Formats: sequence, structure tokens, C-alpha cells
Amino acid sequence: MELFTKKAVQPKIFRDKDLNNRIPDDLFLACPYCGAQSYSKALGPYRVCGNCGYGFRLQARERVALMTDDFAEFDTEIQIVGDDFPGYEEKLNRARQQTELNDSVLTGVATLVGEQTALAIMDSYFIMGSLGTITGEKITRLFEYATQHKLPVVLFAASGGARMQEGIKSLMQMAKVSAAVATHQSAGLAYIVVLTDPTMGGVTASFAMQGDVTLAEPHALIGFAGRRVIEQTIHEKLPKEFQRAEQLLEHGYIDAIVQRKDLTATLAHLLHLHQPAVKES
Ligand SMILES: [Zn+2]
Repeated sequence: MELFTKKAVQPKIFRDKDLNNRIPDDLFLACPYCGAQSYSKALGPYRVCGNCGYGFRLQARERVALMTDDFAEFDTEIQIVGDDFPGYEEKLNRARQQTELNDSVLTGVATLVGEQTALAIMDSYFIMGSLGTITGEKITRLFEYATQHKLPVVLFAASGGARMQEGIKSLMQMAKVSAAVATHQSAGLAYIVVLTDPTMGGVTASFAMQGDVTLAEPHALIGFAGRRVIEQTIHEKLPKEFQRAEQLLEHGYIDAIVQRKDLTATLAHLLHLHQPAVKES
């Protein structure tokens, strides 16, 4: 019977910064987009499928190690007490251990190829990057800091949607973050979003779509309701490319699809172009 039992795939805990050494070299991984199998080591430091360019999911701290010259982290101490939903506290503790984060986003100030920016990176390994109270609070505080210090914001979105264990408080974060984004934008400061696989639900319906420039990684799944929900509602089969970055680009929702290896340079270039005039005087 064991042959037929599907085992849940647990995300691995990566603590080292040497991204090539974290998984045994002889491990085969199947690309979730095209299905091509690759040796783990063949994915390289950026963890990209050699066949289709899909970027395997990264933890927030891995992106920091890959992309930034330096990084100072904010708000490491605040955390939610998950005692009003059964099993939530245990789930939070597991996620905290796996990701070394206090919630589903990592925030701080970073330098990307010499360009200083406020940086938020959502982590899909923390309860599917769901939007909870602390996630919203950390992103809001980051925007407030950026507005005060005249810094741009770069945000990597990755989310399954609002966090159901927190109910209405989770949905409130959409409005709260959006208000902080609006204040930052009216101060004439740039906000760049990078949509990664997957960005869904409440995050798509709020701050992930409010960027001045919106980039995406190849084949990233981006949407509000999931494919199955829509198919059941409209009683139609949706095309394979539905909600993929390429389809969104074709329909004008995003500005560009950028390969992971080119992201740091692209972001640094955009940040350089969008420096506020006050800095030059
Ligand atoms: Zn692939």
C-alpha cells in the first residue's frame, strides 16, 4: 500500500548561504511548470529550470543572500499570538522555525548594486505567504519608514492570499497597506513590485498591483481566485497559460518579465532612474 501513498513534500530548511550545497547534488527535481527533470545542482545558484526558465520558489532569506550588497532587517520582534484558532499557534511555530522569520514577510533596508532601497520579500514557505496581521503591519511600517526617509520600495510578492486563521483582521491589512502605499506614492517616491510564483488572493487585490513598475518572474502564477474556483463558476475549461505571467504581460497587467539572474541589475537600474529630484540638489 505504501507504494501508493502520496507523501506531502515538506519545504527544506536552508540555513547556509552557499546555495549550491544545500541539497545533495544527485537529487532530481521536477519543474512545477514544464515538468522537466533537472539535477538539483544544475539549477544553479538562482534555482531556475534549464528548460523553461521557471524560478523554483525561494525563501526570503535566500533572496536577500542572492541579491543584496547589504541588508538591515526591521521588526524582528513583533509576532501574532495564534490562540483563537485551533492549531494556529503550532502552525506559526513550525513556519517560524522553517523560515527563521516572525511572519510571512521579511522587511528592511538594502543596497542593490549600490542603490539603497526599502525592501520587502514575502516568503511562500511561511503558511503559503499568507497575508496576516503581522505581514500587513511590517509592510505598512516599511512604507512609512521609506516615506519618512525618502526611499523607494521594492517588494517581492508571493502569497496564497489572506490568512484564514485571522479572519477579518487579515482582510483589513489590504486597506492598511494600500493606504501606506498611497502616502508613499504621493510623496513622489518609487514603488517597484516583483511578482513571483505564486501571487494570489488578497495580496494581488491590493499592494501587489499598486506598483509604479510591475515585474514578474517567468511563468509565475498571478491571480485573485484560483483556476478551479473560476472553472466551477463559469463552467468552462481555462487555457493552460491562464494566470501565468506571460498572459498577464500580453494583456497589459504587468510591465515586464525578468529572468531571475537579471533581476538585481534590472531593479538597480530602475531605482537609479527613479531617484527623487531632492537627492540631486
Ligand atoms: Zn521548466
